[in-house]
Amino acid sequence: MQTDFQIALFEGDGIGPEIIAPTVRLLQATMRGYRLNFAPVPAGAAHYAQTGTALPAQSLATARAADAILLSAMGLPSVRYPDGTEISPQIDLRKALGLFAGVRPVRIFAGQPTPLRSTAEVDFVLIRESTEGLFHTQGRGEVTDTEARETLLITREVSEKLFAFAFDLARRRKASGRGRGHVTCVDKANVFRAFAFFRGLFDAEAARHPDLTSDHAYVDAMALWLVQRPQDFDVLVTENMFGDILSDLGAGLMGGLGVAPSADIGADHAVFQPCHGSAPDIAGQGCANPMAMILSAAMMLEWLGQRHGVEAMQRDAARMQAAVEAVIAEGAVRTPDMGGRDTTEAVAQAVADRMAR
Ligand code: ATP
Repeated sequence: MQTDFQIALFEGDGIGPEIIAPTVRLLQATMRGYRLNFAPVPAGAAHYAQTGTALPAQSLATARAADAILLSAMGLPSVRYPDGTEISPQIDLRKALGLFAGVRPVRIFAGQPTPLRSTAEVDFVLIRESTEGLFHTQGRGEVTDTEARETLLITREVSEKLFAFAFDLARRRKASGRGRGHVTCVDKANVFRAFAFFRGLFDAEAARHPDLTSDHAYVDAMALWLVQRPQDFDVLVTENMFGDILSDLGAGLMGGLGVAPSADIGADHAVFQPCHGSAPDIAGQGCANPMAMILSAAMMLEWLGQRHGVEAMQRDAARMQAAVEAVIAEGAVRTPDMGGRDTTEAVAQAVADRMAR
């Protein structure tokens, strides 16, 4: 059984280094019976500004060779490519490593500030296809004086893998008592033929899982329902751009980006990173919330543990998540985004203390 793992570490831009440092310390203090070896790799907007390269070939090679990739946040509004778009090596990684499933858990923990009146049982996972869809021509869109075009691409190959992943996740959630084994396909099949194709492939996968249930929703209706009755959903699966938008809506339901983790998972590789960006408005102040980063690291432990059959990693993932939940519920240590005045380090320490209990 493999117990020694290489982790490529993208420290990133803005608050990235501030939230990843305590997260790595937490992982190092936690690991028993397995070992994580961290390899920091340069990439991002600051690196681009210095060198003219956003994602060096060597960094991509290190990421490709690693067992998992832990990434904080990359990109800065002030550093852009000549065409005006932002530096986002995390999107390049998704395409280069075939990370088709963007996993965005949305869960409202007890004691968490949220805009919702009722927080009963909000616990669903949004799966965002992450390599094609409306991002297919990203950086290659055709723009003339009179018009601009981008192309939406839905392929059978990626969609089939995506839907198989979604139903597998629903089955695992049901087995662990976290969900009812239900998958909802979010699309716009009433308007676009590409989404009717997407939905047809979803239905074909659904038919292979008589033990699970499924339905469909149009993306505009889903935006409404996620605000009105988010507790009704279990696993949602959708196209890249729709998922981009709905995952921020999910983070909003959770009470902010500071507690929203994510993973981009493919057949052979996976990147774990918070949903938020590099938050340049608060960078350097030591007050960024590290919880989304810590919860993303917990997702990494869970994925590695499951993939390699290391139970200690899966247990530690659950302990880490429970520690974050407990710190939120107690409410004694909170960064400003959660209504408190504490620092990144203080919150990370509170999570570490809780885990050590
Ligand atoms: P991107 O497009 O790169 O995802 P974004 O434009 O969505 O980035 P973010 O960098 O995620 O923007 O920041 C959005 C807002 O959320 C900012 O006000 C930022 O300060 C806040 N924010 C993001 N992450 C955190 C965090 N970890 N702790 C506290 N506040 C955060």
